[in-house]
Amino acid sequence: MMNSLSNSLAAADIAHSLHPYTNARAHERNGPLIITRGQGVHVYDSEGREYIEGLAGLWSVAVGFSEPRLAEAAARQMAELPYYHTFAGKAHEPQIRLAEKLVEMTPEALTRVFFTNSGSEANDTVVKLVWFMNNALGRPQKKKFLSRIKGYHGITIASGSLTGLPVNHKGFDLPAIPVVHLGCPHHWRFGAEGESEAEFCARLLREAEETILAEGPETVAAFIGEPVMGAGGVIVPPDGYWSGIEALCRKYDILLVSDEVINGFGRTGARWGCEKFGFTPDILVTSKQLTSSYMPLAAVLMTDKVYQTIADHTETLGTLGHGFTGSGHPVATAVGLENLTVIEERDLMGNAARLERPFQDGLRAFRDNPLVGEVRGTGLIAAIEMVADRATKRSFEPLGKVGARAAAFAAEEGLLCRALGDTLALCPPLIVTEADVGRILERMGRALDRTA
Ligand code: PLP
Repeated sequence: MMNSLSNSLAAADIAHSLHPYTNARAHERNGPLIITRGQGVHVYDSEGREYIEGLAGLWSVAVGFSEPRLAEAAARQMAELPYYHTFAGKAHEPQIRLAEKLVEMTPEALTRVFFTNSGSEANDTVVKLVWFMNNALGRPQKKKFLSRIKGYHGITIASGSLTGLPVNHKGFDLPAIPVVHLGCPHHWRFGAEGESEAEFCARLLREAEETILAEGPETVAAFIGEPVMGAGGVIVPPDGYWSGIEALCRKYDILLVSDEVINGFGRTGARWGCEKFGFTPDILVTSKQLTSSYMPLAAVLMTDKVYQTIADHTETLGTLGHGFTGSGHPVATAVGLENLTVIEERDLMGNAARLERPFQDGLRAFRDNPLVGEVRGTGLIAAIEMVADRATKRSFEPLGKVGARAAAFAAEEGLLCRALGDTLALCPPLIVTEADVGRILERMGRALDRTA
């Protein structure tokens, strides 16, 4: 039985909202799950039910749902200077300090920061800066982006075009910018019969090079990828994949963009995904765990070489005609700064690395469940893919029904996770303890047993 406040809130939501990533008609029938408060790794709904937030919100709440230091940092900044912009050379302390901190915390080659409000805006900014740069270099034909099938880079016109998931293109006339989607580096799903992981990797790299040559290297500006794909189903690439991609980028003068909106700040067990896989990007994009999503904020980091070309062109044109009202927002950057301090002081990146084995090994025990085709992941990010037939890896039809059922059972068991088709994704807050990991595993186990 719902209480009367939840009832009236649900009715108002159904009456007035159009929800992102939601079937609107199903929502009208089923109504919302209203979350009212958070405590540590838990959130509570309007009926008082407790859940472990197994996806850290949307892969983002590193410090948990009740960190007072972030609330205090926001309140202090609200009282001091709630808003100012960064256009036309204006600046303020939190934006300056966070840019400095990000340069300190990222690979040495990255020296400059541009702030946006969201990961999608950050990737749109990447596209525009790369185009701006190649125009400056007198090669206006070098504009195409390479990304991957199942890659996720956001939903705006340009970032949604980079995204390689049909759900983000269908009905929206995307892609709308010149982008070529390369093969997805998921051996279990896309490896040919009898093809080893190393052979699969070599084939993907060969196909990538053939694509670059067919398109004409003089037309290919950048390659963008998530070191570990998130929304595409938590896909960890084979050994040698990233070094191969990096070599191709260097060979054909293609900028390498690491989209670390999910991967950044210890998620994969290393500080950055690019560090985990041993490559050096020209541009790195971060968001989500940057503020633990307590405030919307994203950042584009670039090398000095990229910056110098852009800076020269602004001198020629008179300005950089790009930026958002909220670029480097004082409250968001103050919260980001405090969040990164908390992550460092409590060694939350180390915590993710230490809990990798209990988390990943515990999940792999679910391979015995007849529904489970593959369990995969690294650090504190993982996925369980369910299939109709384990031998042939045949997916369920229609795709997503079994995933939605399993996620609903998990919620009943007190665990929120995200169903991506029939793949259940987990990405708990970095503050999880070993006991929390145990509870996540127990609840997931019961949900899978009920689904089977
Ligand atoms: N890039 C990656 C890798 C993401 O996972 C996301 C969001 O999930 C985005 C970009 C887009 O970020 P936003 O939802 O803040 O626009």
